[in-house]
Amino acid sequence: MKINFGKNVATEDKTVKRSCTKEKEYKLRSAKDKYSEAIKDFFFPRHCPVCDTVLAGREVLICKDCSDIPRLVKAPRCVCCSKHLEQQEQVRCRDCGGKRRNFEWGVALYEYASVHDSIHAFKNLGRAEYATFYGSRMRQFLLPAIKRMGGDALVPIPLHSSKLRSRGYNQAALLAKEISRATGIPVREDILIRVRKTASQKKMDHITRQNNMKKAFHMVKNDVKLKTIILVDDVFTTGNTIESAALELKRGGAEKVFFIALAIGKGL
Ligand SMILES: [Zn+2]
Ligand SMILES: [Zn+2]
Repeated sequence: MKINFGKNVATEDKTVKRSCTKEKEYKLRSAKDKYSEAIKDFFFPRHCPVCDTVLAGREVLICKDCSDIPRLVKAPRCVCCSKHLEQQEQVRCRDCGGKRRNFEWGVALYEYASVHDSIHAFKNLGRAEYATFYGSRMRQFLLPAIKRMGGDALVPIPLHSSKLRSRGYNQAALLAKEISRATGIPVREDILIRVRKTASQKKMDHITRQNNMKKAFHMVKNDVKLKTIILVDDVFTTGNTIESAALELKRGGAEKVFFIALAIGKGL
């Protein structure tokens, strides 16, 4: 039997060296990660999506004082748009009523009144980072409903190109990307565009809102594989925006359209 201690020792030595190097690499990498996280924290600290104070650490997404402020939509909910219903025996809300919708049904996470200032900052004051908090809560609470929709693509409600240029991001697209991370459903920003600059709907009555949104969207790519589409928007009110986008998608060949909204409310 040939014993070659020298060789074994050398091999062992190499293995030990390799594992030491790996350990060093790992330590170096985690030190680097911590370092870059600390730099991010310093230069780009994360803010509470409600009161906007700087949060302690990147894993905290909302401050303690504000954690109960965003209110989830309570049951009973409209079977069509998920808006809270005043009476238990109601099935559909007044906006959905007896009319036929262009979409199947949809879900929303928060009561708009509880998050309207936050959504205003998210959309108009450059707080794109709030998408991280909102995305995590949408994944936490809406995932079973989103899975039931069986969507082939998530389509964020597009902004008009001039608005996208001035804002720098589409808040609905940021939310769609957060949802896609958990569901694997691809985000498609290339099939629907906003062709009309629509006025803010806040102070309009129902009829004016409907007319305001008519022909606001255009389907630029008719992908026949996309049979079921999930529209993503930040706020759902009467549903005219979703209706108009869903109609255009159906004209282009989609069979079913669902929607997900961050917040829902009436009389906005
Ligand atoms: Zn706060
Ligand atoms: Zn409804």
